[in-house]
Amino acid sequence: SARGIVVAGLRKRYGATLALDGMSFTVRPGVVTGFVGPNGAGKSTTMRVILGLDAVDEGTALIDGMPYRSLRSPLDHVGSLLDAAALHPGRSGRNHLLWLAHAQGLPARRVDQVLKLVGLASVARRKAGGYSLGMRQRLGIAAALLGDPPIVMLDEPFNGMDPDGIVWMRGFLRSLAAQGRAVLVSSHLMSEVQDTADHLVVVGRGKAIADAGVAHLIAAA
Ligand code: ADP
Ligand code: ADP
Repeated sequence: SARGIVVAGLRKRYGATLALDGMSFTVRPGVVTGFVGPNGAGKSTTMRVILGLDAVDEGTALIDGMPYRSLRSPLDHVGSLLDAAALHPGRSGRNHLLWLAHAQGLPARRVDQVLKLVGLASVARRKAGGYSLGMRQRLGIAAALLGDPPIVMLDEPFNGMDPDGIVWMRGFLRSLAAQGRAVLVSSHLMSEVQDTADHLVVVGRGKAIADAGVAHLIAAA
């Protein structure tokens, strides 16, 4: 069965709004796939559908060949950041991750590994109430990586990042793909992902309106 994510013909209505109108694309191992389109195009809805959080009227979303809800241990397949982590302001970021790790049966050592990966090792013992949005994004990414998943899905991870954070994020996404992971990263700004992604899925009004290697799309523009 196909590793990565395969989305085929998703259709979803919210009342009068057609949020997804035949969304189809694939996300392959070892590749950063940029998921780009204006606000309201259907990126977040697609990600929620992939994670089994939203039902669809038609279509399928498969993770390593199975619907999310059929995976025996989904966090061993896919880690995701949908919104910047909502944190208890009086607890530390490390504390938050320790709780998540415990729930997944992972050792505290793994928490310190992922904190180092996202560059939060030195600040993770501070109270989360003082974290910037960029720090909360990094913490959310650390949480997504706890189970060492082969698929990583990040919704607008550049939001709230300062220029240093953006540079870091680009390198970080490259390293995830270099490790063989399938990476799906959404943005409403082409400029955020075009230099980082190998493959672009451009979204408009609920469907992929372009889907190709980055060199191919940039040459065509
Ligand atoms: P994007 O992530 O690309 O900004 P979304 O997936 O959030 O787009 O939204 C796609 C469309 O679905 C938009 O028209 C949005 O207003 C609508 N939508 C998303 N979530 C809901 C919801 N829970 N209820 C009603 N409409 C929604
Ligand atoms: P085009 O129409 O631009 O030629 P294709 O869909 O035929 O695009 O794909 C071009 C190349 O990109 C092929 O080698 C294909 O295997 C690869 N490819 C297609 N979709 C993806 C994806 N989601 N991730 C990585 N590579 C992809």
